[in-house]
Amino acid sequence: MSRRKPRRVGIHFDACYERHDTGPWHPESPARYRALSAALEDLPDTFVKVPGRKATPEDILLAHAPWYLDIVRQDVENFADQLRTGDTVICPESYDVALEASGAVLQAVDFVMRGELAAVFCAVRPPGHHATAERGMGFCIFNHVAIAARHLLLRHHLGRVAIVDWDVHHGNGTEEIFREDPQVLYISLHEAGIYPFTGIAEERGRGAGEGTTLHLPLPKNSGGPEALRVWDEQVTPTLDAFQPEFLLISAGFDARENDPVGDLRWTDETFAEMTRRCVSTAQKWCRGRIVSVLEGGYSPEGLASAAVSHVKALTEIP
Ligand SMILES: [Zn+2]
Repeated sequence: MSRRKPRRVGIHFDACYERHDTGPWHPESPARYRALSAALEDLPDTFVKVPGRKATPEDILLAHAPWYLDIVRQDVENFADQLRTGDTVICPESYDVALEASGAVLQAVDFVMRGELAAVFCAVRPPGHHATAERGMGFCIFNHVAIAARHLLLRHHLGRVAIVDWDVHHGNGTEEIFREDPQVLYISLHEAGIYPFTGIAEERGRGAGEGTTLHLPLPKNSGGPEALRVWDEQVTPTLDAFQPEFLLISAGFDARENDPVGDLRWTDETFAEMTRRCVSTAQKWCRGRIVSVLEGGYSPEGLASAAVSHVKALTEIP
């Protein structure tokens, strides 16, 4: 009797991301990244290490306005300590590191589209999902997932891409970029009433994009079983109705119990269960194709543990 082979999964991590220096007290720190990298390094070598590449300005302009790209470049060149558009600490390396992060996600997408890997987890920083087309904020400079979705639509000529965002915060940048876009389904589970104070359930997209936004705010202190119930009742049926050709995950781990920033109580098993549901949906509609991108997660140990649980579940055949 033969057992089915596990899905071939890639992981991307690189010490270059530690060069985005946010100072000694910032929660989005190189230290959290080092804890995560060490845990990924310990995974068996059945996980394929995926190399990165640096995004070009043309890549960034898939989701961002040219004047915003200029703002980032100028602020970094002028040694500003914050982006002028919002609460995002920068250092002289931040522009280059953010380009590396976006480029790595595009590289992962290309590996998956070529069929070399079923899924890739990209451990990159700074995170991206709060960055709008014209404004970095919430520790985010470039919106890697949004750039990847446009890359899939415009360069790989797909017709429908779904983004599932389970970071504890609403991905206001991603939602705004695709608000009127019927080709991108954006689904966010997040804690209600916290930063960036957007993402109410009544917003379902606008214009041609009416119905391709799904906001699922969850009450403070709620746990994994509640989130999984919402997933089964709303996330899976919405994905099934949309029939995506590629699944992107904005994988924040700040909804995990004991995270210093979020107040949800998900466990490593919650992330594994959500991942299994994503794989199941991807196998059904997307030829199994998933690229998952790190967003938040601010307990170094919790982040490492939850992310390992996530990448292991990416290998499982449902
Ligand atoms: Zn977050």
